[in-house]
Amino acid sequence: MEPPTQSALQWLRHFPKGHVLACAALAAIVTLALVLAPDDATSTAMSTRALALPSPEQLSPANDTLADDAPFDTPTAAVATASFGPDWHDLTVQSGDTLSALLQSIGVSISDVHRLVTADERLKALTRLRVGDVVRAALNDDGQLVAVEYRLSQLKSLSAEHDGEQWEVTEHERQYDRQIRYAEATITDSLFMSGHRAGMTDNLIMQFANIFAWDVDFALDIREGDTFRVMFEELYVDGEKVGTGNILRAEFLHRGKHLTALRYDADNGQGRYLDDRGNALRRAFIRTPVEFARISSRFNPGRRHPILNTLRAHRGVDYAAPTGTPIRATGDGRVEFVGSKNGYGNTVVIKHGQQYSTLYAHMSRFAGGLRSGQQVRQGQTIGYVGMTGLATGPHLHYEFHVNGSHRDPLTVQLPMAQGISSQERPAFLARAEALKQQMDMHRHAFAFARNEP
Ligand SMILES: [Zn+2]
Repeated sequence: MEPPTQSALQWLRHFPKGHVLACAALAAIVTLALVLAPDDATSTAMSTRALALPSPEQLSPANDTLADDAPFDTPTAAVATASFGPDWHDLTVQSGDTLSALLQSIGVSISDVHRLVTADERLKALTRLRVGDVVRAALNDDGQLVAVEYRLSQLKSLSAEHDGEQWEVTEHERQYDRQIRYAEATITDSLFMSGHRAGMTDNLIMQFANIFAWDVDFALDIREGDTFRVMFEELYVDGEKVGTGNILRAEFLHRGKHLTALRYDADNGQGRYLDDRGNALRRAFIRTPVEFARISSRFNPGRRHPILNTLRAHRGVDYAAPTGTPIRATGDGRVEFVGSKNGYGNTVVIKHGQQYSTLYAHMSRFAGGLRSGQQVRQGQTIGYVGMTGLATGPHLHYEFHVNGSHRDPLTVQLPMAQGISSQERPAFLARAEALKQQMDMHRHAFAFARNEP
């Protein structure tokens, strides 16, 4: 099967109407609550220290102390230490304000404003102010503008100081504060609704479905009583929740199977999900190279060719789709051929390791810059549906070859993606164990909280 895409939200939302009543009745007996058990906000090194049940103070992120030292964290401190220094002004942008208007209101001349914004390319950001933005400006005893601070985004800010000769610009980038959260629910209707009641966002539910999509068909396979558990990150800035981070570990108890997944970030920063022993959860190939497409003809070795009107083996799958529909590489690999191939028209062949290759034909055009020898990633767009070569209408002709012979792409056994490498294994196993312990503690805390009156 394929990993869910945008359409997945629709099927996750979908559930039989009769389940509405059942769901209401079950709501009373199934408790789906989000256990908030803050842990050390660490993003890379995972803490394994013992986890106590959260106290009410711990539950409020507003009480967390934030270690970031971005200039906007401590405006009062800046003023306090400025008794012998410049005089700071916080200028809030109102509708219709410009930087000149703001700075002129504290006595800065137009020519000084001009000198500021032309001193450095990065200071151009000051000319694109939005209503509600705050520009901090400092004047010296002579009323000269000597420093400016401006927040570009949640995490980025800019400061500039005049050293008497010129403006020195510094960019500051801070990190999110990450809090680890845990949610658990037993499915009574759909994954989507149960997840929502457990306090999970759409984003988290989609992450969860994507992680296990290779093993579970979330549209058809979900059973009442299936249970999921997730440990994930929430992102904070200045004590305010601003979003959901990654799922760190997930468990799915599904029809008697206990599936687990944990996130592992490689040295290159790329994260992927593996089981506790380091096996990949995803397969080396996705089943379908076209999204939202309708299969118009199946693998059929004895079909009469519509144009040549001869009996020709049809050695692939045809996916009818509008001209221009993106075609994606079904696995990581190296482009072996890009060009025109007789009846195939515009064709791409990708080699995946020693045994496997895939072929995509009748393209209207190739993805920009695609060339032979190039590495492509699974899911990467390599071209667009068309009807070049011998084709009666726009469609993709897709072939899957194992050791040089054709296999039915719809039924061929797809190999698993590569698991953890032997060099990474020791670090991986240590992390897997730490995450498992941490999650177990959250789970026990959750069960304990649920059984309390
Ligand atoms: Zn075909």
